[in-house]
Amino acid sequence: MYTYGPVPSRRLGRSLGVSPIPPKTCSYSCVYCQLGRTDRLTCERESFFPREDIFIEIVDRAASSEVDFITFVGDGEPTLSADLGWLIRMCKNHISKPTAVITNGSLLHRQDVRTDLLSADVVLPTLDAGSEEVFKRINRPHGRIDFDAMIQGQKDFRREFNGQMWTEVMLVHGLNDTEEALRDIGSAVGSINPDRIYITTPIRPPAESWVKPPPPDGIIRAQEILKRTFTIAEDESGEFGLESFTDAGEAILEIGSRHPLREEQAVEIERLFSQPGTVKRLMQERELVRIQHRKIDYLLPARFVRSG
Ligand code: SF4
Repeated sequence: MYTYGPVPSRRLGRSLGVSPIPPKTCSYSCVYCQLGRTDRLTCERESFFPREDIFIEIVDRAASSEVDFITFVGDGEPTLSADLGWLIRMCKNHISKPTAVITNGSLLHRQDVRTDLLSADVVLPTLDAGSEEVFKRINRPHGRIDFDAMIQGQKDFRREFNGQMWTEVMLVHGLNDTEEALRDIGSAVGSINPDRIYITTPIRPPAESWVKPPPPDGIIRAQEILKRTFTIAEDESGEFGLESFTDAGEAILEIGSRHPLREEQAVEIERLFSQPGTVKRLMQERELVRIQHRKIDYLLPARFVRSG
């Protein structure tokens, strides 16, 4: 499946996720990634799947569910798909729903990537660091991604793009929540001049178990330094789109592979399918693993749980 959801998104309402790339394929391997460590670290764009098949599935899912946004997000970095521009344009021309792209922004120095994103309504690039040193520690980029080129790419895109650009800054305690790191981020974000700045924290289980959200004073410091920010430090609420699933086990594993589920959300899915005992069975069969993060129990598909 290339699509999932709609899932409740804290910024985009009911968001139909579209992944035009293979799982865990990215130009970064962020320490906080909810998908675990990147399997395929690359910055080469490719046509990974038949684009018509992806589009047919989007049309089908958008028609059968209540959707606020069609969101290209990927199980990794969506701009690695050479079909992204075609897919966005097809959605714009044939489906009356706004489109969004959640990207790490690393390939915006490329003209073809910027051109592909021009048709989107909202683009949400990541910017977690204002210095090369912090960039390498938090995002662990592919060796060919250059920090200055990444920043310049975001600036160039801002100039060329008429839609909404919402920059996302993920704060990790001890990495980018110090005054110095935040001032560097503030200076970089100021030079890009996005429409909005979202501060986020590692709400869901991260790739590295030592990753922690900043304490409240770290978030306040970030709000003061970055200014005019929106802060997302709470779990989302709302229902997941289940229309395309035939049973609770399939839904829990599929949604959980893109969007880590709190235990209560997984139990709610088994209730909606009237299939009590599904979560227990999946755990007994070792398909699901319980992980605690921020004192909250999450159930992750076992293949996502990293060792070491
Ligand atoms: S958080 Fe995003 S950019 Fe970072 S490794 Fe995961 S998918 Fe890639």
